[in-house]
Amino acid sequence: MKILDGKKISQDIKDELKMLVSNRLKKGLKKPHLAAIIVGNDGASLTYVGSKVKACDYVGYDSTLIKLEESITEEFLLEKINNLNNNPHIDGFIVQLPLPRGIDEQKILLAIDPYKDVDGFHPTNFGRMSLEMESFIPATPYGIIELLDRYEIETSGKDCVVIGRSNIVGRPISILLSQKSKKGNATVTLAHSKTKNLKSITKNADIIISALGIPGFLKSDMVKKGVVIIDVGITRVPDQSSSKGYVIKGDVDYQNVLEKSSAITPVPGGVGPMTISMLLKNTFLACQRKD
Ligand code: NAP
Repeated sequence: MKILDGKKISQDIKDELKMLVSNRLKKGLKKPHLAAIIVGNDGASLTYVGSKVKACDYVGYDSTLIKLEESITEEFLLEKINNLNNNPHIDGFIVQLPLPRGIDEQKILLAIDPYKDVDGFHPTNFGRMSLEMESFIPATPYGIIELLDRYEIETSGKDCVVIGRSNIVGRPISILLSQKSKKGNATVTLAHSKTKNLKSITKNADIIISALGIPGFLKSDMVKKGVVIIDVGITRVPDQSSSKGYVIKGDVDYQNVLEKSSAITPVPGGVGPMTISMLLKNTFLACQRKD
């Protein structure tokens, strides 16, 4: 059984990017520049954005963090986005989700210049990705594909079940895995909360991607021997014995499922770190496109 070490692969990718940045600088080209907008004081969001900025420092990118009060208006946020769209120094930017109530998330995502949309959430990028055209692929699905690729896990002809149909994880990974591509050609079932008899579907799967956000949801009796499991779930579960007051749990009942699987991602240390590296990769591509 193989543990798919996202932390290590993510580090490898960051080191590769660091080298590419250094090569750019030697040629007199600019450093990639990523900006992030965060609205409000949500603890998890601040942690994610903090990690992204730290990762930028590591690979040698410039980064700009724009922290806005929870009370800002939608118009104010749209103006900030417009400024970033028109700022030639910024190669790509993200708006950290979720946004406070009263701000229309769709309207915000639509306002981002698709050429700077390194999260790949804009319909132009999502559409291009679906049509197998060059685009920014959302970082988490992109990270899953990269992990499968670097661990040489075969997807072609495999039966794959994706649990969860969100626009940022489940739906895009189901599209990527079913494409006619190197890490595609799988027969994909996309399951969600209305799926009947999920266990009968997961039990036949060669690969399961779990992205629903319910800790320990995928149990040993739901999988077959030799299954490959990618656990995308990240849930903060209160735990007074931890110094932070919580522990991070994935969607998979890890210890029990471990012995049946041929390969599995841990949580933490699996898909999470990959997401950040792929965001950096998208930012590099955005910068390169502008040369
Ligand atoms: P989301 O928007 O909350 O959607 C959850 C999905 O799970 C929905 O499609 C929902 O179905 C489905 N679902 C809920 N209960 C179910 C059940 N009992 N059986 C089958 N399907 C069920 O999800 P998300 O934003 O994709 O996040 C999912 C998890 O991944 C969360 O823990 C999140 O923190 C984590 N995440 C991790 C990363 C990373 O970098 N590792 C990135 C993003 C998200 P319906 O559509 O029918 O409601």
